[in-house]
Amino acid sequence: MRIDGALHSLDQPPRLDPKKAHNIDVVIDRLKASPEQRGRVAESLELALKLGSGLVRLLWQDATEKTVAEWPMSNQNFDPATGYHFPILGARHFSFNSPLGACSLCGGTGTQLLPDAELAIPDPTRSLEDQPVGPWRRAPKRMAGHYKSLLRDLAKHAGVPMNRAWKDLPGSFHHLVLHGSADQSVTFSQIKAERLSENKKNF
Ligand SMILES: [Zn+2]
Repeated sequence: MRIDGALHSLDQPPRLDPKKAHNIDVVIDRLKASPEQRGRVAESLELALKLGSGLVRLLWQDATEKTVAEWPMSNQNFDPATGYHFPILGARHFSFNSPLGACSLCGGTGTQLLPDAELAIPDPTRSLEDQPVGPWRRAPKRMAGHYKSLLRDLAKHAGVPMNRAWKDLPGSFHHLVLHGSADQSVTFSQIKAERLSENKKNF
């Protein structure tokens, strides 16, 4: 048997600490791999899979009997190395018409909707003061003021001047506006003020 990675004879089992969890494997066979051993390998694997309910570990040892590699394998729909389970495969897993088989990026349509920076910033010579973000500039007046304030807070956060043309601003700022700040938090003055007035209204 193999306990916590070490091989032991069944005649002389080691004392185990009952308070600890142990990994106990049954050793089914040990052989020198060669084409002549094919049948024996198949038989041993079959027995191991049966005993291990579909889970078997293959150990490679060098001449000194040191384990140099360990392959966990399974004949179930399960990857023992990662724990990844998958269902019994059928036609629908290979069909783009089925949510199960469809490409996860496009949902099987073959096209993907992505933001286009050139459409978002139609005129990159506009400065931040002139609102270079097209959809924000075309927004109704109240919202346009709100977006302007967002842009001002972003500029303040990044330390870039409002009177500089979009095209002359660093790529990191472009990324901040177009894709967000990821895990970095940005303080927005107006959202705070609006939330406060909303709260007042509710009270
Ligand atoms: Zn696709």
